[in-house]
Amino acid sequence: MHELAIAESIIGILKEQTSSALGGSGGGKINSVKLKIGEMAGIVPSALEFSFQIASKGTLAEGAALYIENVPLTGKCDDCSEVFRIKDYCFECVSCGGSNFKLIAGRELLIDEIDVG
Ligand SMILES: [Zn+2]
Repeated sequence: MHELAIAESIIGILKEQTSSALGGSGGGKINSVKLKIGEMAGIVPSALEFSFQIASKGTLAEGAALYIENVPLTGKCDDCSEVFRIKDYCFECVSCGGSNFKLIAGRELLIDEIDVG
């Protein structure tokens, strides 16, 4: 269950990013965290939520609400510059049918917003 390792690394990042906002010695807490997770990031959102609850115990993120936004898998065609959603793992351009394209979204795991209070 690699979601636990991911949850722990998220909490590590949260600690770094909020240490100045919280003045170091822990005067506040994290209320909520918003994540963007690509549909091909290999993460099960419900497993990540569960792992986050476990990993956040005793940290400044304990009890924080976790909001997860799913990012669709998106490609950009090298031949015709079409930007398109990749559905059902059909890896060809919807406009010209070519298979030369780059994945521009859908594999990320980003911390989008941290609400500290
Ligand atoms: Zn194309």
